[in-house]
Amino acid sequence: MEQKRTGAIVLAGGKGRRMNCKIQKQYLTLADKPLILYSLEAFEQSPIDEIVLVVGAKEQESVCQNIIPLYKFQKITAVVEGGQERYHSVYAGLKALQNCDYVLIHDGARPLLTDAIICRAIQGAIDYQACVVGMPVKDTIKESDSTGFAVRTPDRTRLWQIQTPQAFAYPLIRSAYDWLMQDESHQNGITDDAMVVERYGGPTIKLVEGSYANIKVTTPEDMAVAMALLKGWG
Ligand code: C5P
Repeated sequence: MEQKRTGAIVLAGGKGRRMNCKIQKQYLTLADKPLILYSLEAFEQSPIDEIVLVVGAKEQESVCQNIIPLYKFQKITAVVEGGQERYHSVYAGLKALQNCDYVLIHDGARPLLTDAIICRAIQGAIDYQACVVGMPVKDTIKESDSTGFAVRTPDRTRLWQIQTPQAFAYPLIRSAYDWLMQDESHQNGITDDAMVVERYGGPTIKLVEGSYANIKVTTPEDMAVAMALLKGWG
């Protein structure tokens, strides 16, 4: 049987405004290396065949000259420029992948990615065509109205907080993103890749287990949490 090829898109094209720092969060040093290195290394050492890194405008050259050669990545086949919104960056990554059957899309701002999570995401894409990793929520979640009053308390036992990687059969996610990019009215409020597939009318998304440690570094205190988690699990 023909071997299936799996690619990973690592997103580092965001501006990270909530970090309140001149250096973009993906290049901040966590322990001994830039934050973005952690997920790139996890994919490099995983069964993934190819990695496409998406960076911000004008960062392409410095990333190619400074980060890639220094850490001797073998699987990075392209470093491409992202766009204004996350979905623009994902689309740039999808177009740069070469002949992949499955693709994992990952926020480069999540440094605590593990091989076990990557393997569960790949298997989810093979079994269900579309899956996201996440974890059941621990807190009670309330929906508020626009003035800050609670209007609804959904059943906590069925709520998940969604992480990345999000993993898909390539033809499905490519068609969904081609559809998304055709018309701006499709793009309103899109925050993850599963939403694109849902809006497109694709298959139901399977939820697979991520990890409570697989946090997204967004605000300054997240760096301290990521550091503690690295020490605890390192
Ligand atoms: O902004 P948010 O925290 O949702 O970003 C999630 C990931 O997507 C981050 O790794 C960020 O660098 C990336 N991103 C991107 N291009 C954008 C916005 C976000 O690659 N335009």
